[in-house]
Amino acid sequence: MATRTSLPAVDAAIIGGGPAGLVAAVYLARLRRSVAIVDASQSRLATIPRARNYPGFPDGIPGAALLGALREQADRYPIERGAGHVDALERIENGFRLAWEGGDLTARLVLLASGTSDVVPAMPHLSHSLRKGLLRYCPVCDGYEVIDRKVGVLANGPTGVQEALYLRHFTPDLTLFMTPDAQALAPAERERLARAGIRLAVGAVESIRDWNGRISVRHGGADTACESLYSALGLEVHSTLAKQVGARTDESGYVLTDRHQETDVPGLYAAGDVVLGLNQIAVAAGTAAIAGAAMHLALHRREPR
Ligand SMILES: Cc1cc2nc3c(=O)[nH]c(=O)nc-3n(C[C@H](O)[C@H](O)[C@H](O)COP(=O)(O)OP(=O)(O)OC[C@H]3O[C@@H](n4cnc5c(N)ncnc54)[C@H](O)[C@@H]3O)c2cc1C
Repeated sequence: MATRTSLPAVDAAIIGGGPAGLVAAVYLARLRRSVAIVDASQSRLATIPRARNYPGFPDGIPGAALLGALREQADRYPIERGAGHVDALERIENGFRLAWEGGDLTARLVLLASGTSDVVPAMPHLSHSLRKGLLRYCPVCDGYEVIDRKVGVLANGPTGVQEALYLRHFTPDLTLFMTPDAQALAPAERERLARAGIRLAVGAVESIRDWNGRISVRHGGADTACESLYSALGLEVHSTLAKQVGARTDESGYVLTDRHQETDVPGLYAAGDVVLGLNQIAVAAGTAAIAGAAMHLALHRREPR
């Protein structure tokens, strides 16, 4: 049986070690708070081939390099580390207890920085296609890179229409592909596509593959090749732990917070992708900075003076 390590009790425990968790950890450590990060090491940042809209990097920066730099920055401070997926969070007197396979700890405050994960399309060599920009997830991030290119959108329902219309701002050459289990589009949605000059592929998607530097989609017995395919299959928001302790989420699962990033459970904060549909590194860093500073003040208010 694996041994279980109890980390020392801390002022602030952070669940998730992506940009949100790491930025908050640095803020809190520099504000002289004891901090622990527990991370399952699946940051979406690590999968970005090159982020070109994050401030301060004129030529862009590969996500893995930015994550490495953020980790290195956090390593300069005495921050406790736990490796694993936190699967239990409970309120206790004066704080919280969290547990993961292999460890547990108690903290006066908790920051949930657990992010989201993409629902991925069924296709071989997915990581390779992502690295090459053949498969994409986020037009806010990289719509600029597909200006006037031949682009596809993969969807399982009407949200695909929204995504395709959003991308129409960047390119006129667009095809919407529907998965076999897709919800049928209403006549009004088909009309909106037609008005915008967006093709609706005939027949459901049968396969997707990286082919000769392009992405080839087989549908209704035909093949259509695109320079990039945007997957609009949705996201899973990692807000289960927040719900476990009674924090509210919106209809998409994003954790609701006030302007200091505190949820409606006192002492539980949330930052990054888990709180906002605008899934961006700058937003993760910004909300984490707000949370870190607010958590420090909350602790300060509890201290006898
Ligand atoms: C392909 C792709 C390209 C992108 N391009 C850009 C871009 O160009 N520009 C941009 O600004 N943004 C981009 N993004 C979005 C960006 O990656 C995210 O906005 C950012 O990583 C969010 O940071 P975060 O810390 O909130 O979440 P993440 O970086 O996802 O980190 C969350 C961390 O929490 C961990 N975790 C989750 N649950 C638990 C748990 N229960 N216990 C312990 N750990 C847990 C995860 O394993 C992960 O390590 C892109 C995303 C993708 C997928």
